[in-house]
This record gives sequence, structure tokens and C-alpha cells, in this order.
Amino acid sequence: MAESLAGLTAGHVNRLRETFGGDLITPDDDAYDNARRVWNAVFDRRPAIIVRPTGVADVATAIRFGRERELEIAVRCGAHSNAGHSTTDAGLVIDLSRLRGVTVDPERRIARVKGGTLLGELDIAAQAHGLVCPVGVVGHTGVAGLTLGGGMGRLQRHFGLTIDNLRAVELVTADGRTVRASESEEPDLFWGIRGAGANFGIVTALEFDLREFGPLLHRGVRIYPASDVHEVWPMVREFAAVAPDELALIVTIGRAEPAEDYPESVARQPIVIVSYNHSGDATDVERDVAPLSSGPEPVSSSDSSEQYLEVQTSSDLAMGWGSRGYIKGGYANDFRPEALDALVGHTAAGPAEGSFSITAQGGAIGRVPDDAMAFTGRDARFEMSAITDWDDPAQDETQRDWVRRAMTIVEPDAVTGRYANEISDSGPEESRAIYGDAKLGRLTALKRTWDPANVFRLNHNIAP
Ligand SMILES: Cc1cc2nc3c(=O)[nH]c(=O)nc-3n(C[C@H](O)[C@H](O)[C@H](O)COP(=O)(O)OP(=O)(O)OC[C@H]3O[C@@H](n4cnc5c(N)ncnc54)[C@H](O)[C@@H]3O)c2cc1C
Repeated sequence: MAESLAGLTAGHVNRLRETFGGDLITPDDDAYDNARRVWNAVFDRRPAIIVRPTGVADVATAIRFGRERELEIAVRCGAHSNAGHSTTDAGLVIDLSRLRGVTVDPERRIARVKGGTLLGELDIAAQAHGLVCPVGVVGHTGVAGLTLGGGMGRLQRHFGLTIDNLRAVELVTADGRTVRASESEEPDLFWGIRGAGANFGIVTALEFDLREFGPLLHRGVRIYPASDVHEVWPMVREFAAVAPDELALIVTIGRAEPAEDYPESVARQPIVIVSYNHSGDATDVERDVAPLSSGPEPVSSSDSSEQYLEVQTSSDLAMGWGSRGYIKGGYANDFRPEALDALVGHTAAGPAEGSFSITAQGGAIGRVPDDAMAFTGRDARFEMSAITDWDDPAQDETQRDWVRRAMTIVEPDAVTGRYANEISDSGPEESRAIYGDAKLGRLTALKRTWDPANVFRLNHNIAP
């Protein structure tokens, strides 16, 4: 081997090849540079070896190999980890991209999804039967990574988080055992899987309840100058408290760039965008969104009905692989007027790519008790996040700094919990902030039971 990382020799790799059915990719292979890429270009890592299992036995073999060779193990489904958790320098990447597929039982309304499947595949398979599992908004995100952290999306107030629809998982544990977890099988582990799931093993299959839905999703966007923020925010806040479950509401403070996409009166300026998704009957939409007309006149307003499957892939190109990203999030019940002013000023002065979003919770999310799962934060009225993406590495610190400062502005408004999937930094402080003190103890006990050596540590880690 031309480039030997972590002391891995051709002999080690050849011995692994004897028992491993899938692909083995080392720095010697032409496929290596493409295989080591992850969605977020910030994480330009050089693993010692990338393996692509074709079944459960391969997954167990890969874990054993990584442990024997003392390689740090990264597990990868869709490779969209905001924190770069699915790759590693000089370690082993277990890439599940050859473990893809969805089987739908339309009678029982259940989907069985292999551990490397992407959201788009689940959406298509379920919609073929007029069914849906609520997942995220970009089709090339991984089902496993998204679900194990929670899973938010356009249908969340109607049908809950993705984990609220999870019936069971099958996983290979650190010691190579195959375990099934559900409300009735290893229920404690299932509690931890739903929110902290990357900590306990490699999930090879997930089973979801499906809901009747589709094929249309009704949507609308209202754009306001940022000077209207003090009228727009109370309007959305009060509306979100009484809105029907079918209505998803998002408020975004951002910049009107590129200028040609916006009315001249707001181009390049900070703006407030209110967007909704309505997953109910077309005939109810006008009545249900009427409260959005109680505020100031928007500079632009649009409403449409679109195929759900098209909406679900509509951002796939814009959110494609290769740019650099940074995100921080949290939960809040309301925002102080001075925080809104500061966010608008921060947006006006910052990079054009930076934006701050507030998504209404409640509905089906709020009806599940917060202590039902490791996932923390569902009691809050709103989920919030500051996000940016850029191409030039020279901007790394400026862009990250913008996000950090945005979250500092709203820190006094934040309540317990952070959404694990939308945090780019990791460490003990982040894990405590995500799960809160009350749940961290229970998670630590689970980690000691299922992964005492912390084999699975590239995640928002629960230290054993
Ligand atoms: C473009 C983009 C859009 C997004 N949109 C949404 C959204 O709409 N809603 C939302 O809730 N989140 C969204 N996210 C956040 C997303 O949920 C997380 O980044 C998630 O972790 C990605 O999952 P993945 O499988 O693609 O990532 P990966 O990087 O492959 O994995 C993420 C984490 O999960 C672990 N993991 C992955 N597969 C397995 C497995 N089979 N078994 C055990 N552990 C595993 C990995 O080790 C890693 O720690 C988005 C992220 C991006 C980049």
C-alpha cells in the first residue's frame, strides 16, 4: 500500500477481504477520493479504510476489524452529519450505502428500511401506496442519521417527528450482537435510540408506521421587510398556538439575496419570510391560513399546491454536496423584541448566506411526553436554528462566528434541549445541552450497558 494509515497493511486488508462481502477502499484505490467525501466539505478527512457492507454479517465483521486494529470507527448513512461525524482521519469508515432499500406493507401501513437508505427512497416507496413517513426536507439525507437524532420536516405538526413513527430498529452492537429494539423488545435501548441513536450500535434496519397522505402538499410564502418584524412575529406566534396540526409554520430572518429573486424594494436588505406547508385538504387551506393576513401587507406573497414528492426533492440541487456548512440550534417559547432587533441588525451586517429560522412545534410533536424518548425539546413552542453555508475556506471563521453570535443573541430566550442533528460542534458541553441533565444520567447508564468501550464515539457522544 502506497499510503499506509494507522499502521494498516495490505496483509490486514487482504485478511479482511476473506470474510467481508462488500467493498474495501484504501488510499491506494482510485475510488478513495470520492469515497471519503462527505456532504459538508469542511470535513476533508483521510480514513485508513472505507468499507461498504452488503449485509448484517459484514457490519459485524467491520466492527470486529475496527476494534482489533484499534481504528476509530465512523458510521455513515447519508453522510450529511453537520458535525462531520461520519468520517475520520486514519480510522475506519463503515459506509452503509450498499445497504439500501425500502419494503412497504400497504395493508399494515409499515415500511421496513435498510440502514443506508436515503429519505427520497422512503418517500417514493411510501407515496406509491398513498402513504408517508414524516422525514426531512432534502431527499439525499440519510434515513438512519436523521431518525436516530429525531427527524424534523414539513409534516411534523401533523404526523410527529420521524422517531414518533418509528416502530423498531435492528442494530449490530459493539460486541457484534444483533439486537432488535422496540417498545416491547429492549425498551430502554429503544428509548435511547430515539434521539441519541448513533451511540449504541450500527442500525441495519428501521421499521416505521406510515400515514395516509398525498399526493399534494399546499404551500405559501410571504415576504416582509425586516422593519415589520415586530408585527409579523406576534402574528405568527399567536397563530401557531391555535393553528391546525396540518399547518407547518416557519419564520426566517435572512437577507434578500440573490437580489434578482426578490422585489426591488427589499433586494439585498434583511427580510422576514413566513412560509407554511398545509398537509390537509385543498378546500381547507384558504380558511386555515387566513390568520396570516392579519399582519402587515407583505411585499410578495405566493400560494401553490404541489406534488409532495416534487416538494421533497425541490431543494436537492441547491443543498447539494460540496459546500461548507455550519449550524447551531435550540428551542424557545418566545423571543424578546430586543432579540429580534439584534437578529435583524446581525443579519444586515453579516454574510449574505446567514439566516435564522424559527419553526413552530406543538401539534403531534407536543402531544408526546418529553420524557418518552431521549430526544429533548418537544415541549417548547418553537425550534430555532442559525445556519450558513459558503464555498471559500478563507471564510470559515467569519461564517461560523456569524452563527455563534446569532445564537448568543437568543441565548436568554432558549429553553432546555438542542436538536442533536443541527449542531455542528461536538463535545461534552454540547451533549449536555442537547439532552439536558435529567436525561444524561439515563443515557450514560444505557451507554455503559451497550457500548462500555465507547466504540461508537463519533456522534453527540454519551461518555460511558
Ligand atoms: C442538506 C441537509 C438537509 C437537512 N435537512 C434536515 C431536515 O429537514 N430535518 C432534520 O431533522 N434534519 C435535517 N438535516 C440534519 C440531518 O438530520 C443530520 O445531519 C443527520 O445526522 C444526517 O443523517 P445522514 O445519515 O445523512 O448522516 P451521516 O453523516 O451518515 O450520519 C449522521 C450520524 O448518524 C450516525 N449514523 C448514520 N447511520 C447510522 C446507522 N445506520 N446506525 C448508527 N448510526 C448511524 C453517524 O455515525 C453519525 O453520527 C439536514 C442536514 C443536511 C446537511
